[in-house]
Amino acid sequence: MLFAHDTQVALAAATALVNTGRAGREDLPDIAALDRFAQRWEWTGERTHDQAELEAVRALRPRLALLWQVDEDAAADLVNTLLREANALPQLVKHGGWDYHIHATRPDVPLADRMAVEAAMAVADVIRSQRLDRLRLCAADDCDDVHVDLSKNRSRRFCSQSCANRVNVAAYRTRLAHRRETSLAVATPPAPPIPGRAPPEPDVPAGSSPPTGRER
Ligand SMILES: [Zn+2]
Ligand SMILES: [Zn+2]
Repeated sequence: MLFAHDTQVALAAATALVNTGRAGREDLPDIAALDRFAQRWEWTGERTHDQAELEAVRALRPRLALLWQVDEDAAADLVNTLLREANALPQLVKHGGWDYHIHATRPDVPLADRMAVEAAMAVADVIRSQRLDRLRLCAADDCDDVHVDLSKNRSRRFCSQSCANRVNVAAYRTRLAHRRETSLAVATPPAPPIPGRAPPEPDVPAGSSPPTGRER
């Protein structure tokens, strides 16, 4: 495992949050959508269920997205800022079926602050292990989503299986068309695969599956 379990869950949750607002898309259009998101990612602390809470969560997304785009020093600065702004205070806690893990905010802190701190704590872990390069943008030209590469061989390039499939199908069609053209002109062996465009991604994208139960 690349990171501690709670770090991986937090990274997946942060990825999913950032991806609700990429490239002009709005997947958190109203409070009901935020309720569904909070339920899916098991945000169990106090909620206000009002417009202000929704606006605060939406406003957090572009700031978190920067963690995928800036260099290590800038990412470290941003992590520190997020932790400072929310007065994060890391504490080891045990609850429910969970053994010791870190909570850096209390459950009565506003949702957006808890989301910011959890993401910042996870990215602190990523930076400490010199793996900020694992926070990546999707390699599909027509997709702006972010993902986290947790694969052993650093091979993950796409945010989702659907992006991987779409790009691979397009590359296959290009090869096929090229082969038809060349076979019409003169009998030649099939075109080699386009570098980096095959095979499909085998790993499950972070952000595609809800976390195992825990309280945050
Ligand atoms: Zn994508
Ligand atoms: Zn907990």
